[in-house]
Amino acid sequence: MTDYSFETLAIRAGHERSSFQENSEAIFTTSSFIFKSAEEAAARFSGEEKAHFYTRVSNPTVSCFQDRLAALEGGECCVATATGMAAILAVMLGVLKAGDHVVSSRSIFGTSTLLFSNYLKKFGVDFDFVELSDLNAWQTALKPNTRLLFAETPSNPLTEIVDIKALSEIAHANGSLLVIDNVFCTPALQKPLSLGADIVVHSATKYIDGQGRCMGGAVVGDKKIVGEDIFGVLRNGGIAMSPFNAWVFTKGLETLSLRMQAHCNNAQKLAVWLEQQDAVEKVYYPGLANHPQYELAKKQQTGFGGMVSVVIKGGKEKSWNIINKLQMLSITANLGDTKTTITHPATTTHGRLSQDQRDDALISDGLLRISVGLEDVIDIQNDLARGMD
Ligand SMILES: *Cc1c(COP(=O)(O)O)cnc(C)c1O
Repeated sequence: MTDYSFETLAIRAGHERSSFQENSEAIFTTSSFIFKSAEEAAARFSGEEKAHFYTRVSNPTVSCFQDRLAALEGGECCVATATGMAAILAVMLGVLKAGDHVVSSRSIFGTSTLLFSNYLKKFGVDFDFVELSDLNAWQTALKPNTRLLFAETPSNPLTEIVDIKALSEIAHANGSLLVIDNVFCTPALQKPLSLGADIVVHSATKYIDGQGRCMGGAVVGDKKIVGEDIFGVLRNGGIAMSPFNAWVFTKGLETLSLRMQAHCNNAQKLAVWLEQQDAVEKVYYPGLANHPQYELAKKQQTGFGGMVSVVIKGGKEKSWNIINKLQMLSITANLGDTKTTITHPATTTHGRLSQDQRDDALISDGLLRISVGLEDVIDIQNDLARGMD
């Protein structure tokens, strides 16, 4: 289906109908698949014959989701995982060995920082953290044994942006791979593989689901690294996606483009409104002309995204006051939902980091992260205004 456009692929790609000729994708809730004979069983286990035989390894519903997301990201191959963190873990276990070095952005999802610093380091992988948008810092941090570079753009929660194409050139000149966490944009707004990245990781839990129902993740890239090395981690490590969740995500992809446009529209309006409020010290949104990488965002993304972060004057007390006066917005750590969600990163998503790590990542006590949903933006503004006076 390679000559179809994004919207068509999002609705049609990956669907292999069963003998019943169902129009909507079916859910195959079965842990195993039966063989016609001992010979067929042997051929399928050895890989000589490609077919589903055990759902930890592959399943038709999960394959549908994988093939559809691969088509949307423009990648050869996708593997789906139990969560977004499982996707990041699978990349690291599949690509790295003891003695390797990784350069990561310091502005990444808090749990990713802890996975790298507290767990992967134990197995002899060394990590250095640099400022996301500073290409010189990436260049300087490289070593001969740097196997991969890891970045999230736009970053969580401050929406900093890195030039993916420039960073991929830096990585490739050193023989390293570039991994991009594409959770904030999704392929509807940004396609890192087409800009030179080697691997894309996702938390499908966020915009791909879009309605905050299921946990899942995915890795997209080429047939060798993703299809063999990273797939091997799933097959043997057992961090596969469940068929039911894969079905929810498959249906989520069908409306992804429309939803992302609507998230962008609401977020842009909310960011402009927030900037005008007396209680607000600073607004972080790539669609504001004063965002340091506004021009880059315009070039690299087809929309500015649905995440807005805001620093409230008066630190933790005043920002908590806004949260506690809310009557509608959901106080929860999830993002990418039709429902607007609000988080105080310093005491939640980034609460387990040390003060130094938080200072490094510019997670101040007055910072609020808003995942702008699809309610009427006036209602969102009115709810936030309650605690601002
Ligand atoms: C949520 C998130 C993750 C982790 O995904 P889970 O599905 O929660 O495991 C990774 N990266 C980013 C940017 C996220 O927002």
